[in-house]
Amino acid sequence: MLTRAAALEEIAGKRFEVVVIGGGIVGAGVALDAASRGYSVALLERDDYAVGTSSRSSKMIHGGLRYLQNFDLGLVREALLERQLMVQLAPHLVYPTPFLVPSFAEERRDRKLGLGLNMYDVMATTRVGRSRREMRSSKQEDEDFYWSPDRHRTIDRDELLELVPALEPRDPTDAYLFYDCQTDDVRLVLTILGEAARFGAVSLNGAEVTEVLTPGGRAAGVAFVESESGERFEVEAENVINATGVWADRIRPEVVEEEDMPRISPSRGTHLLVDRDDLSTGSAACIVPAGESRHIFALPWYGRTLVGTTDNDYEGDIDRPEPGAEDTEYLLDAVNAFFGIELSDSDLVGAYAGVRPLIATGDPRKSVDISRKAELYETSSGMLTITGGKLTTWRRMAKQTVDRLVEREGREAPCHTAEIPLGMEARAGDLEAPDGVGEDSVSQLAFRYGHASRAVLDLARSDPELARPIVPGRPDLLAEVAIAARLEQARSVADVLLRRTRLGLLAAPQLRDADAVRPVAEVLGDELGWSRRQVKREAEAWPGRSPVAG
Ligand SMILES: Cc1cc2nc3c(=O)[nH]c(=O)nc-3n(C[C@H](O)[C@H](O)[C@H](O)COP(=O)(O)OP(=O)(O)OC[C@H]3O[C@@H](n4cnc5c(N)ncnc54)[C@H](O)[C@@H]3O)c2cc1C
Repeated sequence: MLTRAAALEEIAGKRFEVVVIGGGIVGAGVALDAASRGYSVALLERDDYAVGTSSRSSKMIHGGLRYLQNFDLGLVREALLERQLMVQLAPHLVYPTPFLVPSFAEERRDRKLGLGLNMYDVMATTRVGRSRREMRSSKQEDEDFYWSPDRHRTIDRDELLELVPALEPRDPTDAYLFYDCQTDDVRLVLTILGEAARFGAVSLNGAEVTEVLTPGGRAAGVAFVESESGERFEVEAENVINATGVWADRIRPEVVEEEDMPRISPSRGTHLLVDRDDLSTGSAACIVPAGESRHIFALPWYGRTLVGTTDNDYEGDIDRPEPGAEDTEYLLDAVNAFFGIELSDSDLVGAYAGVRPLIATGDPRKSVDISRKAELYETSSGMLTITGGKLTTWRRMAKQTVDRLVEREGREAPCHTAEIPLGMEARAGDLEAPDGVGEDSVSQLAFRYGHASRAVLDLARSDPELARPIVPGRPDLLAEVAIAARLEQARSVADVLLRRTRLGLLAAPQLRDADAVRPVAEVLGDELGWSRRQVKREAEAWPGRSPVAG
């Protein structure tokens, strides 16, 4: 990505074919799709990339087994195919995880779930809905061309306990085992933005769109305020795309018919992070019953156990959703009962909440039952709004949007994103670690950056100070802070701790005060030319921005 200064220079007062508002997964996807079809593209993000819902998801690239219950078959099928594609396009960043649904002596194995898993297996194959001829003419007849998970199966007590020893006290009988995928949601957004930049898209964070310019009634650009200078700039664009997720109904051209805009009905989801010494599910995920036929999960993520999520209609502040006390209690009660443990608030190493951009359809059902389907809206001014959907389906949402641009312009420009690799894979074993950098750091870098991790390692090699961990005992390196400022437009301690590394979620108790984050502020200060006083101010601003209270 360009530096902020260079990006501002490229965007302010200039003209593009497409301007995208919003730097979450959907905005990033639209930028990549449009740029790779030959459009000139500018993307404007109000705060930081992925600061909204795209950093607050459950980090699963999945079909969504639970949507089968609602017979949302199209959505599940679409998401499963995207899941397959993401493993192919970003093998370093999207990986399969075994999911377990254990049974206990007192209860029977859930046959309905078995049927659902059969459907999940069938829907995950590339063959469904394709004729033999189509299969033959596809790139490779052999399905192995695509990553495909093993079918679900039943495992016995011994295999289950080998995977999750923590279940031993509950004396389980057996379990269903099936596969879904996990990722780091923010790194996926940054990787997509990096690819978009390779195709010429220019992205700028700290750029809040305040107005859609509609001379003659047509959306023909936007005005934005640059956060550091407070200055207002305009950018002309033939096409304006609103990809602002839960904020989508706030971006309005001057004249607009109500039905041409989505009405967002936000739903909050809370997640907790727990030390693996307190709760471990090994390298598998467990589906945990949580009352009233609801389920939550406990899964491994960056060496912690991630527990989530809730799904409740939300009327609070969507700019800074916080984990609700009731939600936290609900999640803790469910895992405590399931694993026979006694975790409390004080055991948490992190917590966060996100708000789903669900589209209100006048449907009186609860948010858990409302479809995650994406919707594309077009106002009479020509502005397109794309919202709803899921992290998993970002590519389809981007394609749907850019297909509409292409169609209304009568261009010949097919979508290429199914073939564009997202970053470049690197194997940890091929990366050379400088002195003092351990294997855990190297494999985490390979996961997070793929081939680009060499830039982090080179920096750590050239400056041993930067080879130190950001938080003692965690694999994230100070060199990553410098790279975040140089290549990823990070501008604050919060950007680095929450959205370049994920330490603000994974090691919150060790990062409670300004002293603990001073090394981060100092490295950022060196990169961004801060004075000593600004370094101090930035370090002191962090505790108030941490998502974990207290
Ligand atoms: C609790 C929870 C768990 C989830 N888990 C999963 C999961 O495991 N798997 C899955 O597939 N999906 C999951 N989802 C859904 C998924 O996270 C979202 O669908 C997706 O992240 C939405 O992306 P987006 O780009 O539309 O919105 P966002 O990520 O919110 O991006 C919108 C961006 O627009 C910016 N913006 C707003 N106003 C302006 C403006 N005026 N000018 C410039 N920029 C602006 C915001 O700052 C923000 O960065 C989950 C959602 C939640 C809430």
